[in-house]
Formats: sequence, C-alpha cells, structure tokens
Amino acid sequence: MPSRVSIVNISEDIDASVRKAVELAGGLELDSGERILIKPNMSCGKPSGSGLVTNVDVVAAVVRLVREQCKQADVLVADLPICGWDPEETYRALGIREAVKQADGTFVDLAKTEMVRVKLPGASKLTKVTISKLALEVDGIIDVPVIKTHFMTGHTGAIKNLKGLTRQDQRTRMHVLGLHEPVVDLFEHLLPQVRYCIVDGTVAADAVRPAGPYQGPTAGNPVELNIILAGRDPLAVDSTIAQLMGFKPEKLSILKIAYERGLGELDDIEIVGDAADTFRRLRGSRRGGLLGKLQGLWTSRVFNRLTHGLVRRWFGSEIVTQKTAKKELEDNAGEGFIEVTDACSGCGLCVKACKLKNITMREGKPVINMDHCVRCWICVEACPEAAMRIIGSAGFEGL
Ligand code: SF4
Ligand code: SF4
Repeated sequence: MPSRVSIVNISEDIDASVRKAVELAGGLELDSGERILIKPNMSCGKPSGSGLVTNVDVVAAVVRLVREQCKQADVLVADLPICGWDPEETYRALGIREAVKQADGTFVDLAKTEMVRVKLPGASKLTKVTISKLALEVDGIIDVPVIKTHFMTGHTGAIKNLKGLTRQDQRTRMHVLGLHEPVVDLFEHLLPQVRYCIVDGTVAADAVRPAGPYQGPTAGNPVELNIILAGRDPLAVDSTIAQLMGFKPEKLSILKIAYERGLGELDDIEIVGDAADTFRRLRGSRRGGLLGKLQGLWTSRVFNRLTHGLVRRWFGSEIVTQKTAKKELEDNAGEGFIEVTDACSGCGLCVKACKLKNITMREGKPVINMDHCVRCWICVEACPEAAMRIIGSAGFEGL
C-alpha cells in the first residue's frame, strides 16, 4: 500500500491548513494521557519565516492540534541548535517560548535536560549516541521540519531533523562518520517514536548562490511556497520534499539508505491535497522554469566551460557551476580544506562550532588549522553567511 502524503495550500489560516493536511494524510490518533514531544527545526538563530527554522506559527498550530487530543498530559516542544549556536539566543531569536506558551504547550530547553548514552543495535556507523532522555521517554514525537537545502545532504527534512535531539557535540561525530549513515542509524532507532510529520512549507530556504554546493542549512534564499505537508511516513515525506525542490529522491543518500533498510517508502507515495499540483506550479514558475533551464545549461557538459565563464562574470568569481564544484571535490578527494570567502562577516560562530578548537580569529577573520582538522564540516554548517567554501572531499548530494 502506498504511503500517503498531503500537500495543502495555506488559504485561510495556518491552524486550519495544518488540520486539513493532517486529516488528509490519515489523521492524528493520540490518547488523552499521552505525552507528545513536538520537534521543530530550531537549528540556528535565524528569524521565523526565513525558511531556515520552522515557522513558530506552524509550531503553535501543531501544539494546539495535539493539545485537543492530549488533554491530560503536557504537550512538549524541544530542539537543540547546531554546534556554535547558543541555545538560549536561538530560542530568543525565534520567539519560540512565547509562541508555545500561548498555544498551551510546554517549551523544554534540551540543553538543560538530562542526556543519556544509548546503544543503537543494528547501526552501521553510529553504534552509540548521547541523546535527550526525554525524547526516548515520551509516548510519541511529532516531527515538524522546514523545507531547506543542505550542502552535504541535498535537503534537510523530517529524517535529518531528528539529529537535533542529540547532544550538540554528537553532531561532530556524526559528520566525521560520514553523516548519511549515522543520520539513518539514529532515524531507525527513533522511528517507532515518530507518530507524524508536519512540514512547514510557508517559506523554504533555497541555495544561497545560483550554483555550487555551498548551500544551507544556516543560510539560504527564502522562497515563499505557502504550503503545509503531512504524513505518517517520514521517508515518504522527505521524498516528496526532495521532489518539490527538484532533487531525485533516489540520488539523496539518506533517503536511499533509509529505503534500502526498509524504513519507509521512497516512490510508492500517494500525494493528496489541494496543493498536490505544487510540483507543476514550481516547474512552471520563473525559478523552476527559466532559472531551472539556465541552471541546466550552466551545468551541462558541453556548455560548462563557456557558461561557467559567463556565470562568473555575472555573479562574481566565487560562483562555480554544480558540475565544476563536483569535479573540484572529486579531484581533491581526501584533501579537503576550507577557504573563507569575502562573504565572512567575522561573527566568530565557526570558532564556537569547532569542538576541536582548530579555528582562531585573526584581524576579524577565522584562521583554520587544517593540520588538525577532522573534516567534519560542522563549521561550514554553522556559518550564517555561507562564507566557508569546501575545496576537496565533501559529500555534496543532489548533483
Ligand atoms: S566564516 Fe566568518 S561569517 Fe562564517 S561563521 Fe566564521 S566568522 Fe562567521
Ligand atoms: S575546522 Fe575542521 S574540525 Fe573544526 S569544525 Fe571545521 S571541519 Fe570540523
């Protein structure tokens, strides 16, 4: 039987749209005494509505929906940002505490709660992880990601959103272990807990630059979609998001590995809802049509040499085509290093992000000691300006 995913337009208000999306995808079935944890994407201190974090209005709508069914228990909301981003400052930037309180939910700062070390039986890479005890104890998790690109995984959706439940320093380890398989290891462990996925598609964050792998998850161009997605199967939901963004789901390692392990559907998906034509709408839009064709031209083998020159002339010398970027990565496999581009604002977040203390600020710019760098790329992930360019062996997806 196909997995069902709904896509609805936000026509009235966000509450009504969230409710409609959930009903179309099969409805929430929660018991009144169940303790449910709502897990938004609060990965960085960017404003609600930027596409880089889950819109707090969507989080509040989900809290109200769950609260209707779970009358006798707390409705919890929690997440931990990416390394380098201070949890409290991130929560403040989003205004999440107030939004959750007004919706009659309970906000939990995971940084102040107990973390436990657990074994992940059957894991291929991440055999142990330190994770929020609360996430393991609740009766269910509602996964509420936002739609955005990620420089290593193509997109980051429902499956990868669960990484935010681990202790911040665990992210470095997951990256060093290759990111894709560790993310699926964690997902497999938490899957029995995940009761539903409700995706914020009010605004998505797209690639920072018109071409090249240096995109997301803490910087990106906002693209107004005005939709909500919902479904019980996180893999089917992520596959649908991938298609919306123009990726081939089977080309994204996280989705492919999860499918091969039997953790959900990749293509046997029934899409329902009044925005089920969003694929066509996006393809027909200026961005999905003309720009998509141009990007195809830029990245074509035949025209690459010529168009690369044009793109650089139009957008500046730091722009590279996707094909060129991939070749750069392949040519330098195993010798990756980080170049800090002129987009650097000198904020110092990368210094905080590097758990190995490999980065120091000199004259307002970061200096990276690549001799001791483990190539986890966490600093790149944390950079709010997408100012760090990886030259070498990064596993960019979606080309
Ligand atoms: S590279 Fe520059 S902008 Fe990016 S995190 Fe480091 S200091 Fe901030
Ligand atoms: S400097 Fe190297 S070790 Fe430190 S966060 Fe960046 S990639 Fe990881």
